Amino acid sequence: MQTAPAFSMPIPGHIDPVPVPRALVPRSDGRIDLLGLSKPDLRMALETSQLDPKQAKLRAKQLWHWIYNRGVTDFSLMTDISKTMQPWLEQRFTISRPQVVEAQVSTDGTRKWLLRTDDGNDYEMVFIPDADRGTLCVSSQVGCTLNCRFCHTGTMRLVRNLSPSEIVGQVMLARDALGEWPSQPEGRMLTNIVMMGMGEPLYNFDNVRDGLKIVMDGDGIGLSRRRITLSTSGVVPLMARAGEEISVNLAVSLHAVTNEIRDEIVPINRKYKLEEVLQACADYPGANNARRITFEYVMLKDKNDSDADARELVRLLKFYDLPAKVNLIPFNPWPGAPYECSTPERIKAFSNIVFDAGISAPVRTPRGRDIDAACGQLKTASEKKTRAELDRLAEEKQAALG
Ligand code: SAH
Ligand code: SF4
Repeated sequence: MQTAPAFSMPIPGHIDPVPVPRALVPRSDGRIDLLGLSKPDLRMALETSQLDPKQAKLRAKQLWHWIYNRGVTDFSLMTDISKTMQPWLEQRFTISRPQVVEAQVSTDGTRKWLLRTDDGNDYEMVFIPDADRGTLCVSSQVGCTLNCRFCHTGTMRLVRNLSPSEIVGQVMLARDALGEWPSQPEGRMLTNIVMMGMGEPLYNFDNVRDGLKIVMDGDGIGLSRRRITLSTSGVVPLMARAGEEISVNLAVSLHAVTNEIRDEIVPINRKYKLEEVLQACADYPGANNARRITFEYVMLKDKNDSDADARELVRLLKFYDLPAKVNLIPFNPWPGAPYECSTPERIKAFSNIVFDAGISAPVRTPRGRDIDAACGQLKTASEKKTRAELDRLAEEKQAALG
């Protein structure tokens, strides 16, 4: 097997609770996946394969265009790359897509894909079509370290962070399925991305940032940062960095207006209190009235849905002077969930109080509930493998490689 080339891979962040090695190693067939490499790393990958720097620069530019503007995965279709160069690339590199295990379509048109990583971990992505837009809900982790009590993903263990390739791969796959190549500025079906699939994106900060940078790059997919929203449960120390380094729209999973209730339903609140989360929102770089912060609020019967809760929510948002909109999410049930959804009347009353205070508070229509694709319903079988089993699988794989 080849040794790993010297890519500029950062050490996992100090806040990341999962020490996942990030060195870029070749796949089991010895080839290196070009998908998910930054522009400099793509160039470096070519230089490491003995292309001279000038050639590497030119080829990297061409490859970037083919990969991210045209959606091509086959080097032999890259017509401006010579017929001798194409097999040279083919031998050393690959342009991956996540493996699709299952694709489902809801009666409302929502689509869900069950995807599998090369090391056999399952995760999901969801596409939600609307009349004037289409939103891809992207996963950042297999499972989640946090365990919000109303969230099905939260009942999984964290299996691992997704790599930039696996994050960008979701967007690539969705565009393959929607027939959206080459990239066009107008008339797209996939117009928006929300980092609201499985996992806490700020606990996989570097990979999410690197993946989204590729999605936003104007020479490729070119999706504007204004059309990308990152949702966090409130990882306070990384919120400012998200604003500075990714500068996408921010959504915060608030869900409660007192520390007592939030401690219970969003346990990360025991570490980063409600006031700290709201202060981090007030400090979020780039937030203003044109780019408001979305506060997600799941409606749980008799838990967080009273008129008093709605009034306290308004008070807090005004106290911190937040450019805010509130997204009221009817609780989506899953087997064994410890909560019920608030009644439609209660949700309406709650929404009216917030609206009357001049803050937009639409009720989100649940989408794809029949295929378990709605918010908080994503959960895969990956967790069924214990650590020992995963270690054994990894050993077997290693043995097979000799
Ligand atoms: N981990 C991130 C992003 C993924 S969850 C976060 O927590 O923000 C996306 C949204 O769905 C979050 O607001 C989450 O709180 C919400 N959600 C989770 N479970 C839900 C459920 N069962 N019903 C409705 N919304 C839920
Ligand atoms: Fe993780 Fe978000 Fe689910 Fe909480 S709501 S368990 S942070 S995915």
